[in-house]
Amino acid sequence: SEIYAEQLLEGFDAAIREKQFTVYYQPKFSVQPDIPVLSSAEALVRWIHPTLGMISPGVFIPLFESNGLVEQLDQFVWREAAAQIKDWKTRLGIAVPVSVNVSRVDMYNPDLLAYFQNLLNNYGLTAQDILLEITESAYTQDSIQIIDTVNQLRSAGFQIEMDDFGTGYSSLNMISSLPIDALKLDMQFIRSAFKNGKNIRMLEIVIDIAASISVPVIAEGVETAEQMFTLKSIGCNIAQGYYFSKPVPVDQFEPFLLEKKNCDMVQSPAGRSSQRKIYHDKHTYDAMHDPLTGLYNYSAFDMFLHDFDTEHTALLLAEMNGYDELKALEGISVANQMLRSVAVVLKENFRFSDFICRIREKEFAVILPRIHSDQ
Ligand code: C2E
Ligand code: CA
Ligand code: CA
Repeated sequence: SEIYAEQLLEGFDAAIREKQFTVYYQPKFSVQPDIPVLSSAEALVRWIHPTLGMISPGVFIPLFESNGLVEQLDQFVWREAAAQIKDWKTRLGIAVPVSVNVSRVDMYNPDLLAYFQNLLNNYGLTAQDILLEITESAYTQDSIQIIDTVNQLRSAGFQIEMDDFGTGYSSLNMISSLPIDALKLDMQFIRSAFKNGKNIRMLEIVIDIAASISVPVIAEGVETAEQMFTLKSIGCNIAQGYYFSKPVPVDQFEPFLLEKKNCDMVQSPAGRSSQRKIYHDKHTYDAMHDPLTGLYNYSAFDMFLHDFDTEHTALLLAEMNGYDELKALEGISVANQMLRSVAVVLKENFRFSDFICRIREKEFAVILPRIHSDQ
């Protein structure tokens, strides 16, 4: 692995020069509204190496942190993100903040604030456009210097998200005195809360404390409907994770932006279901949905089916047992109520990104895109 590390270090300059680094975006959603609303994105770097293929930042970031290269890489990522935010604003007319990761190493750069301010000037952005994620352990390891830098950034209008909370041993009463604008719970913290036996008490306590000092809580690594609905019910504000989407390249991220723009435009809350929708106006919305259950209808199903690559998409079909008898015995309104309950159960048990459809009177179909062998 030393040879591997050496190979990565030697390849760094060429990688920057030849743009082998690329930025993926992962959406974060406000989960308290009836349907989750896109609130921001996180920029996550990827290294598409010419001979080694895609390398995860978990491998090379710690390496570059130990020799200072991370500063150069981070600045590259921040510039890319700034250019992307600007592009979305001008080309799509959408302003969604993007959070970038700020390594602890960056925090010792005396010109850090000046760098960010220059960046805003160069791309015509404001401090609200870029959120800064700083890992909890940076606060606890060298708190005075870090807190000083954080204070400078915050007085210039930047919002700070404390990343990886739950790994850095900051005490709960310390949170209230730290200069932060959001608390991002670490994935392991979430995972252990939902592990066998499911102990969400710690999650509740942290969320309550954060709420009492008016700091929103972001849950990272949310993968299942159970996690998402539990977090929502205990007051978590924002969620991010595979349940919604993996980090994706720009072109695959843009549908999330367009969808938000459309949702902002469609005012009628009655027409909203709790699943992901892609529609362009109220009329198209109606044409694609079953008015009884709010699920997609057959024509939407038919359309989606042709949109997905068959290799990574799963299809699930279900028919409601005993529906005809129920309808004959109890009447149509009881049968309809039953159909609505089935729709609710379906919505709660699939991912946000799955397409749940009612394709015939008593038949349902779910399209599950992006199913990979690791899921
Ligand atoms: P992080 O900042 O805690 O980012 C979250 C990591 O969790 C990302 O890994 C993301 O892809 C992954 N993730 C998100 N949702 C889920 C989920 O539902 N399940 C699972 N299993 N994983 C999920 P990634 O992209 O590999 O990044 C790893 C770490 O590398 C990041 O952890 C961050 O510390 C660092 N990193 C990534 N990009 C940058 C960068 O541009 N600069 C710096 N300094 N660090 C970066
Ligand atoms: Ca992060
Ligand atoms: Ca983390």
